[in-house]
Amino acid sequence: TRTSVVVIGAGPAGLTLANVLRSGGVDCVVLEAENREFIEQRPRAGFMEEWAVRALQARGLADRLLQRAQTQEKFEFRFSGHRHTVRPVDRIGRRHFVYPQPLLVTDLVAAYADAQGGDIRFGVQDVELHGLESEQPAVSYTDPATGERHRIACATVAGCDGARGVSRAAVPEDRMTVARHDYGLGWLALLAEAPPSSDGVVFGVHPSGFGAHMARSPEVTRYYLECPAGDDPENWPHERVWSELRTRLAAADVPPLNEGRLIEKRVLDMHNYVVEPMRHGRLFLAGDAAHLVAPIAAKGMNLAIHDALTLADALIADAAGDGSALDGYSDTCLRRVWQYQEFSLWFSDVLHGASSGDPFRAGTAEARLRRMLGSAAASTAFAELYMGEESDH
Ligand code: FAD
Repeated sequence: TRTSVVVIGAGPAGLTLANVLRSGGVDCVVLEAENREFIEQRPRAGFMEEWAVRALQARGLADRLLQRAQTQEKFEFRFSGHRHTVRPVDRIGRRHFVYPQPLLVTDLVAAYADAQGGDIRFGVQDVELHGLESEQPAVSYTDPATGERHRIACATVAGCDGARGVSRAAVPEDRMTVARHDYGLGWLALLAEAPPSSDGVVFGVHPSGFGAHMARSPEVTRYYLECPAGDDPENWPHERVWSELRTRLAAADVPPLNEGRLIEKRVLDMHNYVVEPMRHGRLFLAGDAAHLVAPIAAKGMNLAIHDALTLADALIADAAGDGSALDGYSDTCLRRVWQYQEFSLWFSDVLHGASSGDPFRAGTAEARLRRMLGSAAASTAFAELYMGEESDH
């Protein structure tokens, strides 16, 4: 087979890219290691920045999202027994859209495969990339049904296969730098079958550890609890989880948390990385394949969509004879990536200072928090970063 672009991975990055390429008249094939049911149910992100929603809307990819997503206009910090609310929409006119990642993935698969008749191959095994530094790259894989190897020749390979994919590993080590940051702590990521207990995000800053509440749907709420890196989720039975959440999210005059069955419980080791450049020959990396941001500031899916739109537009322009945007792809994306990385690092210090065991860090973290809550300029600056930079897309 031959196509223009082979997209490896059907997450938010790969699916956004494939949809926009296809509408723009550039043919592509998507290769996904998992099956369709699996990717349509994998729980992860929830917050989408407003520019990302508008960008998908402008490309006809947000109809269901706009019908079903809730918007979130405020968030709350709780510390020292008090609650402090920030309403970014009053300051900068932007809000978050709450739309669970599996719903977005479901919509994007339907738009590409069902509505546009796009070529997507699920369950592929042993994907390998070939000839990336040549003008004739190719991607091969094993078809799970027949056990046969297939090879797709192409002009471009888009590595959208997430943090544990094969694309990044296909780049020789001396051709890229990987910048890493390890926070040295974990978050227990929880999904509870319980209605939200607040209509916004709640960040609980507490000496026992950070805790958070995030509405996902009328029936499901995401919670996070700071824990040691590498902790075993089995150390967190139902009672301990709810008791810690009650402690860390406590404040005067707040209603009790709505408790429920825990339907997801896993430990995320908090770390970040950035691969530079996001290109090697005819391979372009997008989304988590190129950069990981710990979910502290809810940025990863938004960056994945930003990369995908930037790459799609650049490939469409390239097919029409203008390769300049493609040449600038890596720099364009990395500017936003580093802004979001820096913000995540800054925010992590604010959220984890109180529980760091270091009184100096605890003092400076509380000073930042008080400055943010007490100064209009500081809280606007925070809201701009938390709600996400504007974009031309
Ligand atoms: P992925 O979604 O990881 O997709 C990659 C795809 O490639 C997968 O479908 C995978 O199966 C496939 N694949 C992997 N290897 C291969 C292979 N060898 N061959 C073929 N296919 C392969 N981000 C936000 O913006 N907001 C949030 O609120 C938020 N919350 C989060 C909460 C949690 C608990 C977690 C874990 C993450 C969160 N994120 C959030 C981050 C977000 O989920 C990711 O950044 C996002 O999924 C990245 O999209 P992607 O398309 O780059 O990669």
